[in-house]
Amino acid sequence: MTDYDYDLFVIGAGSGGVRAARVAAAHGAKVAIAEEYRVGGTCVIRGCVPKKLLVYGAHFAEDLKDARRFGWNVPAQCDFSWSTLRGNVMEEVDRINGAYTQTLTSHHVEIIAARATVAGPHEVALADNRTVTAKTILVAVGAHPSIPTFPGHEHGITSNEAFHLPDVPKRILIAGAGYIANEFAGLFHQFGAHVIIVNRTQEILRGYDVSIRDRLLQISIMKGLEFRFDAAFQKIERGDNNCLTVHMSNHEPAVVDCVMFATGRSPNTRGLGLETAGAELDQHGAIVVDADNRSTCESLYAVGDVTNRVQLTPVAIREGQAFADTLYGGKPTRVDYDCIPSAVFSHPPLAGVGLTEAQAKEKLGSVRVYTSDFRPMKNVLAGRNERSLYKMVCDGETGRVVGLHMIGPDVPEILQAAAIAVKAGLTKDQFDDVVALHPTMAEELVLMK
Ligand code: FAD
Repeated sequence: MTDYDYDLFVIGAGSGGVRAARVAAAHGAKVAIAEEYRVGGTCVIRGCVPKKLLVYGAHFAEDLKDARRFGWNVPAQCDFSWSTLRGNVMEEVDRINGAYTQTLTSHHVEIIAARATVAGPHEVALADNRTVTAKTILVAVGAHPSIPTFPGHEHGITSNEAFHLPDVPKRILIAGAGYIANEFAGLFHQFGAHVIIVNRTQEILRGYDVSIRDRLLQISIMKGLEFRFDAAFQKIERGDNNCLTVHMSNHEPAVVDCVMFATGRSPNTRGLGLETAGAELDQHGAIVVDADNRSTCESLYAVGDVTNRVQLTPVAIREGQAFADTLYGGKPTRVDYDCIPSAVFSHPPLAGVGLTEAQAKEKLGSVRVYTSDFRPMKNVLAGRNERSLYKMVCDGETGRVVGLHMIGPDVPEILQAAAIAVKAGLTKDQFDDVVALHPTMAEELVLMK
């Protein structure tokens, strides 16, 4: 018997919170979870899932063009209905939201549809003025888009609103050059918008291998996307005709119909009451946790984006699972952050795992790099002048593959499988020992020079 209302109170029903609540309950804990918006969190409601469905939808623009070269009679004018796609995507989001809710209730997790804040090491305040107690509190509140403040910034939207736009804007300016910026740039371009990417620096996709990022930049420019680098926002003005004029340093003003900020995501810790429990935050507002997800308050834990370790859904899920198995399952588990694969669902997509060439040189000194720069068979017949690039980074001493970086059709699907071999520590010789599966694009992985 415990003196608390719950063994575990989870704040936030996103990727990390739902997994932790469900698994803790399955291990026998009495669990409640509070959600202020919709069960499923960012990934399901306004992140990975609706984004990927839009990316699928966007790809038809090129597929329909290419289909003619494969003998299909596609009318010269193919109509696209944004409202149909948007509606179907939102229906799918509703379905998954229902499935997540069902998972929680079938595991006897009490769902509280309200904002919750921390009111002490074992106390949670709910929006309806109730205070409940729990032996352990898990904070899994995620992050929100951060927007630079300058005159007129309020005219811009973020990815949250992009899913609900009434129409595809004719001209859109996307601020930022991370994965969300490049993904939305790609899909709005495919839907017919003129896209301008504006970034403070000269780089896109910091953290990915330079050769792969350069290839995406070249292909994007070739497709007609406009990039403006070294640009700092000065002001946004709304004109009489609803157009937005965006003033920035080093460039002419841009006149567009929509501005979308994709300038990073900050942990949702403001006003959360963490100080009442003595939980420390870092300089970015993220909850400081140890390898077991425990904060500087003994009874308060945190997982997912709010800890700002690796802001990806599968990582939040693993952290939630490890937390629940460790505390309630008698199975101490820690997340291994080494070799986490990631992808950008741009047009074409790119993906990577392990060290970039630059990181490997710095860490290992002696490095061997193998590449395959090729035009996929399908692109050749389609007359599409887009080359794929695969890059394998190996330890110069042992031949161990320490990084794999790819851009081209379907590379996120290919890389997920190859990441198993990289994580397992296989060498280039062991890759080459596998007979190629012909004709595929993935066979390049065992034929690299
Ligand atoms: P979240 O999923 O954000 O869940 C937090 C929940 O807490 C939310 O539901 C929120 O409403 C709720 N909440 C917040 N404060 C309170 C409060 N005080 N009381 C009650 N409830 C509260 N990751 C990938 O791996 N692959 C992708 O392709 C990918 N694409 C993305 C695309 C976009 C546009 C975005 C924005 C993100 C994407 N991500 C992707 C990142 C991914 O969505 C996050 O890493 C993941 O959702 C983090 O899970 P979480 O549990 O930490 O937080």
